[in-house]
Amino acid sequence: MFDKILIANRGEIALRVIRACREMGIASVAVHSEADADAMHVRMADEAVCIGPNSSTHSYLSIPAIIAACEITGAQAIHPGYGFLSENAAFVQIVEDHDLKFIGPSAEHIRQMGDKITAKETAEALGIPVVPGSKGGVPDVDSAKEMAAEMGYPVIIKATAGGGGRGMKVAKTPADLETAFRTARSEAKAAFGNDEVYMEKYLQRPRHIEVQVFGDGQGGGVHLGERDCSLQRRHQKVFEEAPGPSITPEERARIGGICAKAIAEMGYSGAGTIEFLYEDGEFYFIEMNTRLQVEHPVTEAIFRQDLVREQIRVAAGEKLSFKQEDLVLDGHAIEVRINAEKLPNFSPCPGVVTHYHAPGGLGVRMDSALYAGYKIPPYYDSLIGKLIVHGRDRDEALARLSRALGELIVDGVDTTVPLFHALLAEKAVQTGDYNIHWLEKWLEANV
Ligand code: ADP
Repeated sequence: MFDKILIANRGEIALRVIRACREMGIASVAVHSEADADAMHVRMADEAVCIGPNSSTHSYLSIPAIIAACEITGAQAIHPGYGFLSENAAFVQIVEDHDLKFIGPSAEHIRQMGDKITAKETAEALGIPVVPGSKGGVPDVDSAKEMAAEMGYPVIIKATAGGGGRGMKVAKTPADLETAFRTARSEAKAAFGNDEVYMEKYLQRPRHIEVQVFGDGQGGGVHLGERDCSLQRRHQKVFEEAPGPSITPEERARIGGICAKAIAEMGYSGAGTIEFLYEDGEFYFIEMNTRLQVEHPVTEAIFRQDLVREQIRVAAGEKLSFKQEDLVLDGHAIEVRINAEKLPNFSPCPGVVTHYHAPGGLGVRMDSALYAGYKIPPYYDSLIGKLIVHGRDRDEALARLSRALGELIVDGVDTTVPLFHALLAEKAVQTGDYNIHWLEKWLEANV
């Protein structure tokens, strides 16, 4: 096992990894930008290294600075968290070239899944059902028109290098197609430096269902059920739950089994998420994320497992501490993403948190790097906390969420907490009867 791990991230996820390290008796090294000198992850780690100025490009994304921080502190492995360098295959290669261990899958698997066209082809070859769409990239507007006519409208144009909901445009009719194609292309070029796009059938009322998988790095694979992340704004998740309210135990076993087998066949190592759209009882693969997800705690809650601990074990060459048959689902968990944002436009709202009180009590987990007096910097994303609740069933989890949100105090900045209070009063949220378009429509009508 490692003696010392460097965490190449910030905020709540850096704390999450530091906590796992401490419980495993592993020393932790925090890295930080100048703006984050007073951040909680810096205070909680055993050691901290400043790796650059405020902008992420020159700090959390600076590969030489992070490698140097490992060398200075003697850290043997790097946990990337999510975002930043977590799905950067070139980074993984450089880490390995320096005889350090990357806590995550191989550069090869990251590369394969990072390109969405290759990811879909790989998934299909492994027996995973995929969204109907173009075979490979769509080179120009004329071929886009031809394909869309064949496939039937509406269609969605997506960036092959896509992520974070960017570079995605829907065309409802042939008249929309040219604009959708060109906008997706230029967005993709600007965001990812790669303007290749592909086309999919645009599903009208699917749910977003994702399967948590784990490869043991030794040819074995397991699944930890699914999460339903259908409540989204601009293709970004805001509310996640496990298990999925619409998924039966039989469906879970079926799709979970397909995913676990695929992971085993790939020889995949560590945590991964296979994302699907789910409509009329069918699953359609959209992408795979080769990292820990923001919403992993809901899975941890219902299976009583520590996924970060398992990531570290697998990276160190140890076995997973569970087998498929050990994983028995217990109760229901919900996570809400608390962002420092001002409604109705969800504009970022950095600033000083004057008071902070975290909710507690039975079945409540608050993952946050906030403290009273903390100044939320304007340079990074607006997630300031995740509130996760667990109950014996969905109704108990909902009641607990409402209770816990009532206890939470974040003064000094606007947050998305009022949105969740309002959502909990909605029948569709109470019954779990929503799809990926529900929240956008609700926001249009109510906010
Ligand atoms: P990203 O990597 O940018 O998050 P994804 O491929 O995971 O992109 O898609 C994100 C979200 O966009 C999905 O959860 C869904 O809401 C929507 N989406 C993507 N593909 C389709 C599709 N073919 N039909 C309908 N919605 C889609």
